[in-house]
Amino acid sequence: MSDAATGHIRLTSHSGGSGAPPIHWGAPTAAERGPVIGTTTTRADRNVIGTHSGSYGVYRALAVAAGKLSRQHRADLTDTTPTDTVGPFPQWSEPDAIVSLDPWGATVADVFAADLAAGRDIRPTIAVTKAHVIVPEIADAVARGRLVPDGRLLFPSGAALVTKAAIEPVWYLPGVAQRFGCSEADLRRALFEETGGMYPELVTRSDLEVFLPPIGGQTVYIFGTPADLADPRVELTARVHDECNGSDVFGSDICTCRPYLTHAIEECIVGAQNGGVGLVVYSRKEGRALGEVTKFLVYNARKRQEGGDTAEMYFTRTECVAGVQDMRFQELMPDVLQWLGIKKIHRLVSMSDMKYDAITGSGIEVGERVDLPDDLIPADARVEIDAKIAAGYFTPGAVPDADELRKAKGRSLDA
Ligand SMILES: [Zn+2]
Repeated sequence: MSDAATGHIRLTSHSGGSGAPPIHWGAPTAAERGPVIGTTTTRADRNVIGTHSGSYGVYRALAVAAGKLSRQHRADLTDTTPTDTVGPFPQWSEPDAIVSLDPWGATVADVFAADLAAGRDIRPTIAVTKAHVIVPEIADAVARGRLVPDGRLLFPSGAALVTKAAIEPVWYLPGVAQRFGCSEADLRRALFEETGGMYPELVTRSDLEVFLPPIGGQTVYIFGTPADLADPRVELTARVHDECNGSDVFGSDICTCRPYLTHAIEECIVGAQNGGVGLVVYSRKEGRALGEVTKFLVYNARKRQEGGDTAEMYFTRTECVAGVQDMRFQELMPDVLQWLGIKKIHRLVSMSDMKYDAITGSGIEVGERVDLPDDLIPADARVEIDAKIAAGYFTPGAVPDADELRKAKGRSLDA
């Protein structure tokens, strides 16, 4: 980006940054940890690689380029503080418990008030607010009498009261490398090269250990009292859900994503009404983190292959197009649960063995696993669910055998 006064490009790779406050990741207090500063206004204060807002940083660049946004704009944080307090919890400073978000990200206006007053541009990476969510399936559950409005958590209209938090990714590179079992140098090199050299500091500034990656974050929906999440005596119903725009938003019937999401919301509401607390974590990892273009290519390949759309070929067809079966890598997912102070999930609304393994591997106890009722599985999604169950997804029912997997159950493209 050229500097307006001189026409010079402002390189990041050799900026001094000697006046920037250090980050001691995992330190017990915010003051000892230090603020995460990804500002583009005062370069000398920067102590991270990348900038805020994840992938939306690119839109910010467009706004600056188009002359719509002042490069010097500073956020006015008046009245933006969280509606509910989250933490601090012991996990925030346990070694390696959290490596992909900033646990202090919601409270920068408080915990770094002195730095802000001194003029440092410190931005929240987490925001916490309240909302009513109105989901047709929940209204239907009310109409059918499965859910009973209480005027507190659930209203007669079918609207449910939630506390929700939006979380941007903040990666501590040594910790992320450790989760994936690679060296930090290899991680930095791959991130640099696979983003087309977008962040030279990844390879030139080994002193900067925190990266704000240009990817989507997570949104947390809490049904009931947020503070109860950290109390293992309070029954917690939880789902960790990976984004699927086609099903979640548009109701496409080739997968079970939306039915599972709305089923989980119903379970969360029932749990909260029974004195527990409910949690849905929504992660932006569209199409197994492969993106929608790849996903749609795979759909065509599945439905055009000889023998039709079968569970037997479900993972193979994805691998043919994408090179892997799945790129979601649940290694970082439990961080959000650790941020919320969770020690036990009594009812995990998920059949995924990868999610289960990641959660229990992070030290969180899981009680019951709740599968998706058969009557909520769309006919065209039978291929997906059979393939996943055969590959190790949890089911209290029968695991389909080889003959079963070979049966074409998906619709053809022109049906
Ligand atoms: Zn889906």
